[in-house]
Amino acid sequence: MLLTNNLGYPRVGAFRELKKANEAYWAKKISAQELLQAGLKIREGNWKTQKDAGIDLIPSNDFSFYDQVLDLTLTVGAIPAQYQSLLNNEDKGYNLDLYFAMARGFQQDGVDVTAMEMTKWFDTNYHYIVPEFVKNQEFKLTSEKFLNEYNEAKSLGIETKPVLIGPISYLLLGKEKESGFNRIDLIDKLVPVYEEILGKLAAAGAKYVQIDEPFLALDIDDATRALYTSVFTKLAAAAQDIKIIVTTYFEALRDNEETALNLPVYAVHVDLVRGENQLDTILAKVPASLTLSLGVVEGRNIWKNDYEKSLVQIKKAVDVLGKDRVLVGPSSSLLHVPFDLDNEDNEESLPKEVKNWLAFAKQKLAEVKDLAILAEGEIDAKTAERFEANKAAAEDRRTSSLIHKPEVKERTANITDDDAKRTSSFAARKEAQQAKFNLPAFPTTTIGSFPQTKDVRKWRADLKKGTISQEQYDKEIAEETERTIRLQEQLDIDVLVHGEFERNDMVEYFGEQLAGYAFTKNGWVQSYGSRCVKPPVIYGDVYRPADMTVRWSSYAQTLTNRPVKGMLTGPVTILQWSFVRNDQPRSTTTYQIALAILDEVQALEKAGIKIIQIDEPAIREGLPLRKADHQQYLDWAVRSFRVSSSNVDDDTQIHTHMCYSEFNDIIEDIAAMDADVITIETSRSQMELLDAFAADFKYPNDIGPGVYDIHSPRVPSTEEMVELLRKAKAVVPAEQLWVNPDCGLKTRAWPETKAALEAMVEAAKILRAE
Ligand code: GLN
Ligand code: ZN
Repeated sequence: MLLTNNLGYPRVGAFRELKKANEAYWAKKISAQELLQAGLKIREGNWKTQKDAGIDLIPSNDFSFYDQVLDLTLTVGAIPAQYQSLLNNEDKGYNLDLYFAMARGFQQDGVDVTAMEMTKWFDTNYHYIVPEFVKNQEFKLTSEKFLNEYNEAKSLGIETKPVLIGPISYLLLGKEKESGFNRIDLIDKLVPVYEEILGKLAAAGAKYVQIDEPFLALDIDDATRALYTSVFTKLAAAAQDIKIIVTTYFEALRDNEETALNLPVYAVHVDLVRGENQLDTILAKVPASLTLSLGVVEGRNIWKNDYEKSLVQIKKAVDVLGKDRVLVGPSSSLLHVPFDLDNEDNEESLPKEVKNWLAFAKQKLAEVKDLAILAEGEIDAKTAERFEANKAAAEDRRTSSLIHKPEVKERTANITDDDAKRTSSFAARKEAQQAKFNLPAFPTTTIGSFPQTKDVRKWRADLKKGTISQEQYDKEIAEETERTIRLQEQLDIDVLVHGEFERNDMVEYFGEQLAGYAFTKNGWVQSYGSRCVKPPVIYGDVYRPADMTVRWSSYAQTLTNRPVKGMLTGPVTILQWSFVRNDQPRSTTTYQIALAILDEVQALEKAGIKIIQIDEPAIREGLPLRKADHQQYLDWAVRSFRVSSSNVDDDTQIHTHMCYSEFNDIIEDIAAMDADVITIETSRSQMELLDAFAADFKYPNDIGPGVYDIHSPRVPSTEEMVELLRKAKAVVPAEQLWVNPDCGLKTRAWPETKAALEAMVEAAKILRAE
């Protein structure tokens, strides 16, 4: 029998019920009991949905009130010292107060602790709470959440497969809080807790356990590979009769194939979406004792599975291993896709034809089941019908005129090296730009957005609801823009911005105006804790039917004699923060977006906007998980940016902005983007980041290192900023330096914005006088 194996299910609820319950609890509007009840309801619903879909191995312990890594931190008792007073030893479950204190910080009754650090979960947009380890770290079983949830499902009549992040990946996901040790060396102290966990699950009657070891699909060294073998030998012994499924995802096993496939466990799960080509070599290596779990239904994207394609892979595996040694499942946990496509009914933003190409979490369960039945061969009428519908949808997608625009494909295919290169050198451009703008030394500017006040958000909401007219809305936006221009003049800023009041979000705003984009109503995906995002969907060839930003930028320019900077989002960031097509390479989609942005750049130029910023905050996060793949990505990512920004006059000044640190390893690629000016986030690292720009490799173009942190309402003093600028001047020639905040000001309020910018301009003037 081919069993179906699901890895994890989204837990925010179809309508973000968990978000709402969490936030109500934090605001003290509901009790802990009510919050726990809300969690239980979601788990119950998820388990039943999976049971009804015919899933054999249904995960438990994949639910989390905030984050599954934090759950494990609590489970193994890796509670940093500052939170320990909040531990309630009686509570063997969620320990909510302690838990949320670690997640979000806590300020009450004389206790005042900040939150633990958060970072991206591999290359997803999910963020986890980073475990912290000390040299004398001890581990101790502190929560039995894994057991409680297993028993809870059992009492509902549902046998589940508890999910645990494996001990090696857990340590690797964390960080050392002091020097003098390597966190991986804590493994001998950690394994006994896992043995205890497995013992308890065995006693409770669990038949399977899923142990996630995503690092088995990443770059690891020989020592770590050897550790996998020894650790899993111990875990297998402790598990007694429980069947262990070691789970990998987001990448192919590659050089870890031998190690992973020879672990003494029941099964290994492999991602056949990201690692599409790994099946053949894996099948050649699978030992006779091992079962293979095939991740064929994509857990990271929202497209319908192509049954014919998946069946080829499943049948290949069945031919070699036999039905009893093959499991069928999604490529990864379904945490990264929205809940249920059936809740989408807005045909205007999501046309029926496009909807027919999609599958959310619930639909993916049905796909997994269909594939198992189809591969098994005993096909009932309903499944046969679904197979036909699946083939028809795939065919429709291959040929739909909604997707395929020959002009766009042709234009993209014909991009030349000249299209990706400015005509003149940076030095020549700088001279032309200086002649045009005549800016002082240490020119001042901001990153684009100004405060999105309650009023601004209300105008937008009212326009959407239809309670104010387009004219009324435009009038409000125009007035807010004018006030902002006047303020910047008053503050004596050199390069102004219009303020971005007309924008909801830096990707959605462009997506709504580009062809090839669709939008969902409830397509929420957890980003961190209670925060969810609703990525737009790129389904077709992208182009720009009309001007997108010219109107507000040129309006702002009519109000002042100072240059107003046009504001665009770059092609890689637009790609990175959307659900992306899987029927063509990401690079092709990015080039299409790049051409659309170029059209907008040229339209702005024509309208007299000669300084244009193209934001690329997501270039860094797009880096592939394996080092061997980095350069190829960087090549097309950088080239896409250049395509969007090169075909302009010498005296048009292109800016870009990035707000993630850690540029050190890719600084030469960032330089290759050849923006005339780059503004970056540096203030939180006290300009340390600038070292990357001044090390052996000298960054050639102009740089605006952020001189203050916009993430906090705190108003920095002029002296502080002067100090930072002097530091910057010590590593980067003064002629190359700009003065600006870290990032956009949309999350700030007006009073602190004015005060901070006033101090910033003052600091620039002091530097000029030195
Ligand atoms: N121009 C955008 C803004 O100012 C940039 C946002 C970002 O870097 N994330 O809001
Ligand atoms: Zn930023």
